[in-house]
Amino acid sequence: MDQSRTDILIIGAGGAGLTAALHAADRAQHLSVTLVVKGLLGRAGCTRMVQGGYNAVLKPPDSLEDHFLDTLMGGAWINDQELAWTLVETAPERIRELEARYGCFFDRTPDAQIHQKAFAGQSYDRTIHKGDLTGIEITNRLAEQVLARPIRVLDEHRAISLLHTEGGEVGGALLLDMRTGKFHVFRAKATLLAAGGGPSMYKVVACSADKSADGIAMAYGVGASLQDMEMVQFHPTGLVVPRSLLTGALLEEGLRGAGGRLNNNLGERYMQRYDSVRLERSTRDIVARASYLEIAEGRGTPAGGVRLDVSHLGAEFVEQNFPGMVKRCRDFGWDLARQPVEVQPTAHFTMGGVQISPDCTTGIQGLFAAGEDAGGVHGANRLGGNGVADSTVFGGIAGDVMADWVVGRPEPTVSGEQIEQLTVEACRPLTGNGTESLYAIRDRMRESMWEHAGLVREEDGLKKVIAELGSMQGQLEKVALKGGRAYNLAWMDWLNLRNQLLVAEMIARSALVRQESRGSHYRRDYPETDQTAWLVNVCLRQGPGGTMQTWTRPVRLTRRVPQAEALSASPVDIGD
Ligand SMILES: Cc1cc2nc3c(=O)[nH]c(=O)nc-3n(C[C@H](O)[C@H](O)[C@H](O)COP(=O)(O)OP(=O)(O)OC[C@H]3O[C@@H](n4cnc5c(N)ncnc54)[C@H](O)[C@@H]3O)c2cc1C
Repeated sequence: MDQSRTDILIIGAGGAGLTAALHAADRAQHLSVTLVVKGLLGRAGCTRMVQGGYNAVLKPPDSLEDHFLDTLMGGAWINDQELAWTLVETAPERIRELEARYGCFFDRTPDAQIHQKAFAGQSYDRTIHKGDLTGIEITNRLAEQVLARPIRVLDEHRAISLLHTEGGEVGGALLLDMRTGKFHVFRAKATLLAAGGGPSMYKVVACSADKSADGIAMAYGVGASLQDMEMVQFHPTGLVVPRSLLTGALLEEGLRGAGGRLNNNLGERYMQRYDSVRLERSTRDIVARASYLEIAEGRGTPAGGVRLDVSHLGAEFVEQNFPGMVKRCRDFGWDLARQPVEVQPTAHFTMGGVQISPDCTTGIQGLFAAGEDAGGVHGANRLGGNGVADSTVFGGIAGDVMADWVVGRPEPTVSGEQIEQLTVEACRPLTGNGTESLYAIRDRMRESMWEHAGLVREEDGLKKVIAELGSMQGQLEKVALKGGRAYNLAWMDWLNLRNQLLVAEMIARSALVRQESRGSHYRRDYPETDQTAWLVNVCLRQGPGGTMQTWTRPVRLTRRVPQAEALSASPVDIGD
């Protein structure tokens, strides 16, 4: 088995991992920085898939206070306010850095100012973009910058587990070179989880295929505390492409921001019933749930969607402003600029994740987290445009903090028994002789999560899915796979599923705890938002004997207290 050491180990190369690597390398050039990525550098993760853009306050009348308040209202007031403030305060500086230091170039107005467009839930047009494919610009430029520095990049390596020292610190990670199937022990003074969370345990999914909530599962494995795991964002406009893996791929929110309309199969503009003021520009949770209910109650199209119509905006406008979306639809024979296109809600983003402080520390020495692996920034619902801002803001902070933190720290030691146990567990399907089908388990998990822990939840369904997940975890141990260790994709799917089942259980258990509706979490049996009893975060960690422990903690209202009218972003207006 290969053994290496590094000062700073970064797991994941999306916005958070790339920015962290650059900041760490630039802050302390004598340190060794290693970046591990499950896919190919610059090609993996969701940052590359960012379409709409990046929220930052650049000029009046917009203000940091407005961005902050929009973020809290979108998050239905359970955000960690210190994290949310760090996001809005640092985002303008990070945008300037992306352009001036790393070479990104965002769209301009005729007078050469950075153009900012409308996204849902915003007081002012705030979203900075590069056409409608912003993530490609950001990821390409950041990846080029990484390659120009002495940062060690391990492509197609996946982190399997974090390694702990005798003192209970995190001292690196066990990696697997997916091409050769060889394990690689990487000891590190500081380890950053930037693996991008990802709600890939649902039937309809928008996030990138390489994500299986590995970072969250690994954090749980070493006893880190997690929060808000019940908060899963469903984006309202995933494509409906029957019998295609592209079902769930996104049409960006800017289409609704620009005036796109949603109609059901009866031709009704149904958002009038769910948010008569903001209509399609309402927050994602409300629009996604409205679409889900329209479809569930029989007013969807025969293929199981609703129709997004932007044709009234003018074909020229749509083609000029949304070329990526037009092309994506054209691939399936649809003319987005001139005709309605079928869409449905799609699992998009995990608001929950590892509890962090604004400096990305986690409470476990040596372990840091940033981006979608971390919880708290977005509360119960993330605003469009705040995701990539989150990953680059906190990735940069983590890089700086880790570079300072590792100075003078001793080399961590990790035991051989620990490594032996982790490799044996990871290799179990290659040595077993069970008869369970990996893909049958995966399909059941996806269906069950969609039905019982998706956009509409209730106690019986959540208890049912928790029981089912438990039996699926048992079945997974009885899967036997053919083939060796080198580039064994079925084995990778097994490793993915192991983490997805665990994180699915976290979502369902947390959803069962929260007996109210708030943001993206809607309980049919508790449809109201309860500001008195449930202004709390649901927290979770691994307890003694491997049990999953949950508890609640009052939200720390360190900067703003919710006003009655500020709750208008929560789902009190759902369905009839
Ligand atoms: C289709 C789509 C459109 C979006 N559009 C927007 C938008 O317009 N604006 C916005 O603000 N947000 C948007 N988002 C959300 C945004 O993409 C995320 O908030 C953000 O990019 C997450 O960044 P990250 O660095 O945390 O994770 P990611 O960018 O997802 O990167 C995760 C990285 O971790 C790696 N990884 C995963 N597991 C492992 C492992 N076990 N070992 C090693 N590496 C691992 C992955 O390969 C990847 O490199 C969109 C998301 C999607 C899916």
